[in-house]
Amino acid sequence: MTEEETARSQQSEDCLSLLNMVSATTTQQSNCRLCFCPTEVKAMLLDLPNFKDMVLTISECMLCGDKTRAIKTGSEISPKGKKITLAVKSLLDLELEIIKSETCSITVPEIDLELTRGTLGTQFTTIQGLLNMVLNDLQRHVTSISSDSNHSEESQNSALADFLIKLERLAKGMDNFTLIVDDPLSNSFIQQKEYSDLVQEDYERSEELNQELGLSFNHLLSQSEEQAQA
Ligand SMILES: [Zn+2]
Repeated sequence: MTEEETARSQQSEDCLSLLNMVSATTTQQSNCRLCFCPTEVKAMLLDLPNFKDMVLTISECMLCGDKTRAIKTGSEISPKGKKITLAVKSLLDLELEIIKSETCSITVPEIDLELTRGTLGTQFTTIQGLLNMVLNDLQRHVTSISSDSNHSEESQNSALADFLIKLERLAKGMDNFTLIVDDPLSNSFIQQKEYSDLVQEDYERSEELNQELGLSFNHLLSQSEEQAQA
């Protein structure tokens, strides 16, 4: 990200209405994960409509500019996962705010976009902001392989370029699409307005998913049994 882009994304984050729903803030001293210089970590308790309390932590290093964000739930781990499906049909839908946790996956079936768990980390942004982040991320990738590329890289590059055109159309509100946010820990949130076409479903996590997320106590037990037998 250039300095200008960083400034822009920071500015848009400050404008988010969700970040004004803070009922308590605390500040702690910490150290930057990159340059180790002393940094403040701001923790905010968010009071979201029809949703559990969440604690957002934000830190920004004054020296190297590294920004980190994280989301924790005020309460214990959700017993169920949550799938949110939003039909994006207008520019107003693109302006809806989203809290994307590190554990959620995001899909847009119309263009075969799939962001697996962990991609882009935790973000507080709008739907449009999120699409632009993906766009910027992929565009960097195109530039990095375009110089001195062979034949198969070139065809990969042109497939990616086609995909970017589709994605850009969505980010500009030129085509309708479906955004599916699947968070097995139910820590992601999309703002709901009177006009929004949004469906939320809670689901049982599979044992396999619990294991992947490190939540399975049975899994640990069976492991220690195996070790005992070995
Ligand atoms: Zn730093």
